Amino acid sequence: MKPAKTRKPAGKASRTALRRRADEVWKILEKVYPEAKCALAFGTPFQLAVATMLSAQCTDKRVNLVTPELFRRYPDAEAFAAASQEEIEQAIHSVGFFRNKARNIRALAAVLLENYGGELPRDLETLVSLPGIGRKTANLLVSTLFDTPGLVVDTHFIRLANRLGFVEATRDPVFIERAMAELLPRDRWTLWGHLMISHGRAVCSARSPACDRCPVAHLCPSAHENPRP
Ligand code: SF4
Repeated sequence: MKPAKTRKPAGKASRTALRRRADEVWKILEKVYPEAKCALAFGTPFQLAVATMLSAQCTDKRVNLVTPELFRRYPDAEAFAAASQEEIEQAIHSVGFFRNKARNIRALAAVLLENYGGELPRDLETLVSLPGIGRKTANLLVSTLFDTPGLVVDTHFIRLANRLGFVEATRDPVFIERAMAELLPRDRWTLWGHLMISHGRAVCSARSPACDRCPVAHLCPSAHENPRP
């Protein structure tokens, strides 16, 4: 089956109508996925930053297999900064893109040690200035660690925002983050991202969205585009 086409209902619907629809989607998905939350295992803020960097192009499950031993050997920024590039590469080999990831993690550890006493800063703007930390990761960190609402716009979020008609055809994560921030109350931002991931994995997959068993199909302008036999 072809992937869902992105559509342009957002351009026609009023913001009030979109907010109402987002509210309905939220209420349903919140019940369907009561366990939706950050799935990465970690013990400290720095460890979550590392786990999130490792999760790029990799599953959370695989990252969670690697991090217990990784964090036993390198529990903090100091330990990572003291380790060689080769040592870290070897330890994270199975998560893919290990050279870049090892380089970024060591660079992050060094900057944290030099400028922040080895601790992770708490605000989004400072976080995005650090090596290897983009806006998606920074939003995950502030929302998971510091109780600051954050919209974690990952590939599932982007796909579903388009299919559900909350944005016009776009894959720009910053644009989508801003658009959804206008449609959702702040206190729903964090959970919304987790709900998008849960729903994207369980039902609205990239290749074969299961619209016939989707609990929000009646609210989704793309439902008719993905009939299943
Ligand atoms: S109806 Fe559900 S599964 Fe189908 S495209 Fe919409 S959100 Fe995805």
